[in-house]
Order: sequence, then C-alpha cells, then structure tokens
Amino acid sequence: MKFSDFSEYLEKLEATSSRLLLIEILSELLKKTPATEIEKIVYLIQGRIAPFFAPIEIGMAEKSVAASIAIAYGGSKEDATRLFNKLGDMGKVAFELAAGSKGSEITVSEVFEILTQIAGTSGAGTVEKRQNLLSSLLSKLDPISAKHLVRVPLGNTRLGIGDPTILDALATAKLGDKSNRKLLEGAYNRTSDLGLIAKTLWDKGLPGVERLEVRVGSPIRSELCERLPNAEKVIEKMSFDSPSTGSGQGAQDKVGVDVQLKYDGFRVQIHKEGQNVRMFSRNLEEMTHMFPELIKATLSQVKADTAILDTEALAYNPQSEEFLPFQETTKRRRKHGIEEAALKLPLKAFVFDILYKDGKQLLDEPLTKRMKILDGVIKEDDVLIRTKNQTVKDPKTLSLLLEDAISKGLEGLVVKRLESPYEAGGRNFNWVKLKRHSDGELSDTIDCVILGYISGRGKRTAFGAGALLVGVYDKTKDEFVSISRIGTGLTDEEWREIHKRADKIKLDHKPARVNSLIAPSVWIEPEIVIEVLADEITRSPLHTAGASTSSASGEKTPGFALRFPRLVSFRDKDKKAEDATSVEEIKQLYETQYSRQK
Ligand code: ATP
Repeated sequence: MKFSDFSEYLEKLEATSSRLLLIEILSELLKKTPATEIEKIVYLIQGRIAPFFAPIEIGMAEKSVAASIAIAYGGSKEDATRLFNKLGDMGKVAFELAAGSKGSEITVSEVFEILTQIAGTSGAGTVEKRQNLLSSLLSKLDPISAKHLVRVPLGNTRLGIGDPTILDALATAKLGDKSNRKLLEGAYNRTSDLGLIAKTLWDKGLPGVERLEVRVGSPIRSELCERLPNAEKVIEKMSFDSPSTGSGQGAQDKVGVDVQLKYDGFRVQIHKEGQNVRMFSRNLEEMTHMFPELIKATLSQVKADTAILDTEALAYNPQSEEFLPFQETTKRRRKHGIEEAALKLPLKAFVFDILYKDGKQLLDEPLTKRMKILDGVIKEDDVLIRTKNQTVKDPKTLSLLLEDAISKGLEGLVVKRLESPYEAGGRNFNWVKLKRHSDGELSDTIDCVILGYISGRGKRTAFGAGALLVGVYDKTKDEFVSISRIGTGLTDEEWREIHKRADKIKLDHKPARVNSLIAPSVWIEPEIVIEVLADEITRSPLHTAGASTSSASGEKTPGFALRFPRLVSFRDKDKKAEDATSVEEIKQLYETQYSRQK
C-alpha cells in the first residue's frame, strides 16, 4: 500500500470522533491491506513500529523533528520551532511547510523500514543520523503523509484509537462482523500483541488466532480483582465449586476460598527463558532494566528453564526489616540511578501465581494446581517469596484474617476462587479484593482519567486550572465518560505538575472517544490517570458515566458522579487510560455502598 493512501485514512480517522465511524473507516483500511503489510499497519495505527511492550522507541525530541522538517522542506529549524510554538502540533508544522510537495510512490513497508532504522540508530552522532534519515524520508512525502509521519517519532498520533477499537475493526474487516471478536480478544489477553494477532488472522484465519498461546517474552494481560463489601458476601459468592452453583444455597457444596495477603507494591510479571529474564508492569511496559536484584533472584531461585510468574514487588528497608509504603516503592520505577536505588530501596517480590512452566501454558489449570506447581518452582530464599495462602470456608475466619492483615499495616486480602483458571485480562469474581473501609468513605479508591481542565479564578489562574474534569472508562463503548470535577485537595505543586503534563497533550477540540456534556476550558488527550478518593457515588444529570436513555420509553437515567472527590496520587506510571476504573465497576461500587449501609 502506498504510504500516501494509508495517510489519507489516518486523516479521516483523525477527523472522526464517533467510535462507530472509527471502526468503519479502520476496517475499510484493513480490508485493503495485504498480509505482508497488516502487521506494520496495525503497529503504525498505534503510533509504533512494534508492540507496546517491546522496548523499541523511535524517541526523537521535538527540536530534532523540527530540524528534520526544516532540512526536508527548506527554511530554518528556528522557523519550524516558532511555528510549532504557535500551532502546538508538529504534524501541522510538517503539513504547512510541506505545502506544494508532490510526494512519491513510497510504500508503507518502505516507510516502516526507515522508521525501524531510525529506532535502531545508536552510538555517536545518533541525533544527526536520525535527523537525516527522517528528513530524507520527509522529502519523499506529500503534506498529509508528512503530517502523520512526524507524529510517530514524537509518540503522539492524535488518533485516539484504543485497542478494543482495533479489535473491532480487525473482526469486521476479516470476519465480516463482530460475532467472533471474543476469540481475538482472548488471543490479545494472552499475547498483548495486536500486530501478531492481525498477521495470524490474515495468514491462518480464526483457527490460527485461537491457537495463539502465551509466549515467554510477551506480557500476559493481568487478571484483576473485583470488589465485595465484606467477608459474608465473599463466602456467599465465591465459596462454591463452580460459579453456577454459587447462589448462596446449600452448605454442602461449599469448598471454601483461597485467601492471600494483599501487598501494596507494584505488579511485576517475571518472564524467564534460560538465562534471560524480562519483566513487565501492570500496563505491559518492559521494566527489566529497573530491577537488577529481581533478575538475579529469578536466575538463582526459579527452578524451571522457562517460566512466567505473577508477582507483587515491594521495597524493603534492610535495616529496620520493614516493607516500605507504596509511594516509596514506586520510586524504584526509574530509568536512571538504578544501581544506587537498588541498594537504597531493595525489592522483594511476592510470587502469587505461575502462568507458564517449561513449555506449558498454565492459564487453564485451576488455581489449586498452579499454586502446587509454584511450590516446586520457587527455591526458598529472601528475594522471591512464594505468597502464603490458605483455604477458608467461613466468614468469621475471613474477617479475622482481614483484621490481622490490616493490623500488620497491609492493604487487606485478595480472595480467589479455588478452582478458577487464570483469566488473562479479566476482572470478575474469581479474584476479589477485601480492603479496610472507614465509615463515610467508599471502600476503595477510583482511578479516573483527566479529560480537561476548567480555568480557575484567583490565585489558581496562574496555573491555568481551577478544576479538573475527570472521567472513567466505558469498556463496552471504548469511550471515556465524565464522572466528576475535582477542584479541592490539590496542592499548588500538584496543579503545576498537572499543568506541565497536560500542556503537552492539549487539544483544540474534544478528543475522539470522549463523551461529556461538560466542555472544559481546555481538552486534553485522555492519558493521565489519577487515583481519587470520594465519599460516595451519587447520580447526576451533568455526567455521562453510566447515563442512558431507554429506547422504549425515552426515560433518561442520569450518570454517576463522585461526592467530595480528592486526588490521592498519580497512577499513570502503571496505568493506561483504558486501565482506569470502568463504568461497570462504578455501578457495582454504587450498589455495594448501599448494601454496606444495610
Ligand atoms: P486494579 O484492580 O485495577 O489493579 P489497583 O491497581 O488499584 O487496581 P487493587 O485493585 O487495589 O489495585 O488490587 C489489585 C492489585 O493487588 C493487583 O493488581 C496486584 O498488583 C496487587 N496484589 C497484591 N497482592 C496480591 C495477591 N496476593 N494476589 C493478587 N494481586 C495482588
């Protein structure tokens, strides 16, 4: 496919904010794509040249891209930078300066190849080499192609296309409709690689995709926890041998639940293949180089040639022999000063699951069996620690364990259904978190995505924000819906931080996939995830989270809103916007807050 034809589609996608239309345009593009280019096109739509988890970054600074544009189309780097300061988007700068440029017949594969060369450039003179490669590529492009190309090395495609939308489009393009989309999603949960799925679908059809297994080196999408309000509800709902019998009746088929301590660190998925170890975060980013002590421990403590382990890593103070709080632990996620940090804040990792061992995928094995396999895999030592677990059948024991965990300074418990498989990417009642809750507050925090900011009055005007408009994620529609405005509880420092980050991603129009009745003073790309604590979830016609209109009666159900919301922390280090709390979860929290009060 010619890169200019591909860019015409990107142009149409950029101008679309309706999700249905996005799927339609995308699937039209994919239908025209040959098997030899499908993988590349899927990565480029994501603004990448490899899957998200691959540590391949083209990573060029704005001034470098500005220099490339200047070399390609004439003019000075300063002029390009000035134009960028005015337009706020390097794509538009390239478009303007490329005016009149005819472009060429260059194909997507050829452009992809050059982008791969740019990413692979290293050593002395890297900046110049990259600039030259990019500028000679730009000189072969028409204005629209140039506009979309320069956004790739800057890591911002401005297309607003989420992974679920790409899955929808792949299904529509190749299978005719979305009826088998679940099978694509299953493969995505096991491999996290949309390019691979597309290529397999094009080459081997749906059966090929179904056969795609977990691969050591590709992160598996994490299984997540549901919430229940108390120990009684947990036993009632989870302590049965199959979900279908979990109606709460008949004590005879109660098998109990698996109870584990809930450590408050960060999730690390460890992949071992011979002497090679890689690690991935909750949002599937590669973190291997950040944790040398975990690599060492994996090599010495894991008794398997190949293995994938699900763990929670915590920083530890060797002097006081105490685990450090979450905020301290997150300081270990850094790119520089790794060795010093490893000495100052060494990590331990609690291993709570095993998903692969010596050539065999274990996702479909029941939890009890996986835990047994884990016993034989982790050699006892003090860096990797197999998480303790026990079977509990009655709510009283469960409550005591929860109190005990909290008194030890832990967050609470994770309760798991004994016979459940590992449901990659799933959040259901196979795993439930039980946390402490103080009266008058929700029992859990909510992860919101910042959608924009509303200009403030008085002293806050200096930072350009008086309140944030935040939303949650509607999984079924793959869109972000508003749930609250947050104005209080942010320090001046936090405002500055938000402003600094938001300025880089602000838009002059509502982003695609955002559904909000409130228009903030400035929209931003839905990227920044913050953890929010609120007193209560209420209903409000101002917000779109969970709002609906009955097609039969026309009756309107107002959206959900947060009462007294306040910022707890930034979560974007380990959460993508799509990992924010979902509308489904909000609905459940809304319902459980009443069942707790009963
Ligand atoms: P999310 O559910 O979206 O991950 P979160 O990041 O706020 O939300 P919680 O829901 O509070 O985290 O708890 C789930 C997390 O708890 C897991 O993702 C994992 O990182 C951590 N965790 C700690 N101990 C365990 C354990 N024994 N089993 C499973 N997860 C555990």
